[in-house]
This record gives sequence, structure tokens and C-alpha cells, in this order.
Amino acid sequence: DAKRKGRHTWRRYSSEMHDIAMARLAVLSRLSGVSLDHELSLHYQTQHAGADGRIIGVEALLRWPSGPGELSRADQLVPLLEETGAIVHIGKWVLREACRQQRAIADIVGYACRVAVNISAQQLVHTDLVALVAQVLTETGASADCLELELTESAFMTDPDRAIRTLRELKAMGVSIALDDFGTGYSNLTYLSRLPLDKIKIDRHFTSALLHDHVDASICRSIIFLAQSLRLGIIAEGVETEGQRAWLLAAGCDQMQGYLFSRPVPLERLADLATAGTSR
Ligand code: C2E
Ligand code: MG
Ligand code: MG
Ligand code: MG
Repeated sequence: DAKRKGRHTWRRYSSEMHDIAMARLAVLSRLSGVSLDHELSLHYQTQHAGADGRIIGVEALLRWPSGPGELSRADQLVPLLEETGAIVHIGKWVLREACRQQRAIADIVGYACRVAVNISAQQLVHTDLVALVAQVLTETGASADCLELELTESAFMTDPDRAIRTLRELKAMGVSIALDDFGTGYSNLTYLSRLPLDKIKIDRHFTSALLHDHVDASICRSIIFLAQSLRLGIIAEGVETEGQRAWLLAAGCDQMQGYLFSRPVPLERLADLATAGTSR
């Protein structure tokens, strides 16, 4: 009986493995090169001043509209792209596309605002990010002052010194750097003071829990305090309720991003948000 059960489990396991293998194959064959423009797109989520709701920037988020199943969404797609190494190639496309749209975004919002692009740890290891950014800025005519790169702490794991050098050079070009998902990684405080950062992003898991979990609330307070001490900007992601907005503002976090303000939308729909006013 145990044997039969075992076989049953194995079969289920094996069919899951098959699905995963198929998904991987689909990614590799459809996203392996030819025309990413036809497969991929970017959505933009606005970032706001918490006090008056003014748009202060937008974050570009990768979408694969015709991707198989769950893979149309970044939270499923990006880990797979990282696993297969495809993120290095696709990350270039994302950077170029976001820079290409920088002017259109400024026109829609009504003033030049920052466009944030997520950069995977692998891109730091496998590409000359400084050369890539310089090339893309020249090619697209985008301004470095309006480009922000979002990295997670994992970007500093493989070769911290090289990562720090890269970021210094990018900052010297006028590009700003945000540390994404802060609080979920190793959050090495010794490193934090050495990293050439402009901004820390509080991970949305802390934001979503802060009103009913006093530990998470304390962590939020500590991150805000840390940012202030290091003279860094601070933005909370995943702000969904008015209560969270009020709490964060009172705690000293003046920048916010989340469904309370807007969901990520395609460029064409960004106009609706901007004309809906700076109000929430
Ligand atoms: P992230 O950079 O931390 O982006 C924030 C994620 O939270 C986005 O998910 C966004 O849609 C979601 N979000 C924003 N506001 C709220 C909210 O109020 N509530 C909730 N529940 N969620 C909210 P998304 O677009 O699925 O992206 C997931 C992750 O995938 C990103 O997390 C980022 O790490 C990665 N990613 C997305 N696009 C790219 C890309 O172009 N390159 C790389 N390397 N990574 C990307
Ligand atoms: Mg991000
Ligand atoms: Mg984040
Ligand atoms: Mg996140």
C-alpha cells in the first residue's frame, strides 16, 4: 500500500516536473532572441509624494501578455528568467524600452519624472552595466537624471566591490540607485553605509502588515530611521489603504507606491492616472 501511495506521489510529482519543464522550454524558445518587442511589454506604476499625492516617478514592470499561464506576470516570470539566464538579455530590452518611453512619460505626467527600472543581480555580474546604460542613454536620448535603477541586496552578494564600483560610476553619470525589497534579504547594515544609494524601498510585506503586526511596524520604523540617518530617500511599496498611507507619513516615510494610488498600467493608460489629477 505504501508502495502504491509512493507511486502515486511520484506520478503527481513527475507531472508537475513536466509542467515546469514545458514552461521553461516555452520561455527559452519564445524569448530566446528574435523579436522581444512582439512578446514583451512594460507596465508602469506611479510613485507618489505621500503628503499630496503628486506623481514623483514611475516604475517599469515587465509583462509577457501572451506568456503561458502564470508566466504573464513578473513575479512568476522573472524568477524563471533568472534561473535560465535569459534575464541578462531581456533586462537589456527592458532598460532600452523604458528609456525609449521616458519622454512620452514626461509628456503624460506633465513634467520630467524619474523612471525606475529593475535590474537583476545577474545583470551586474554578466553585463557591463555602465557601458550598457551609457549606450542606451545615447541611443534613446533619455536623460540620466530621470533614470533610476532598482537593485536588491542580492546584487551585492557575488562581488560586492565590483557592484559598488559599478554603482559609483552610474551615479557619476547622474543615474540614481534604489535598494528594492529592503528588509527581506540579509540587510547587512555594515554594507548599507558603503553602498552608493539614493533611496531605500520598504518591501511591501512590511507595508501590508504594519497596521496589525507590531513587529512589522517596528521594522518599518527602523528602516525609516535608518534611511534618515544615512540621508537616503525612503519609499514604501505596496501601499493599499488610507490607513497605511497615514501611518507611513506620520512615521516619516514621504514617498509611496501601491494600489491605493494606482496599479501598474500600460503606457497608454498612464494618461488616465495623470489627468485624474495629482489626488489619490
Ligand atoms: P518589485 O520590483 O518589488 O515590484 C513591486 C511588485 O509589487 C510588482 O509586482 C507590483 O505590481 C506589485 N505591487 C505594487 N503595488 C502593490 C500593492 O499595493 N499590493 C500588492 N499586493 N502588490 C503591489 P510584479 O509586477 O509582479 O513584479 C514582481 C517582481 O518582479 C518585481 O518586484 C521585481 O522584483 C521583478 N521584476 C518586474 N519587472 C522586472 C524587470 O523588468 N526586470 C527585473 N530584473 N525584475 C523585474
Ligand atoms: Mg522594483
Ligand atoms: Mg520591491
Ligand atoms: Mg518586491
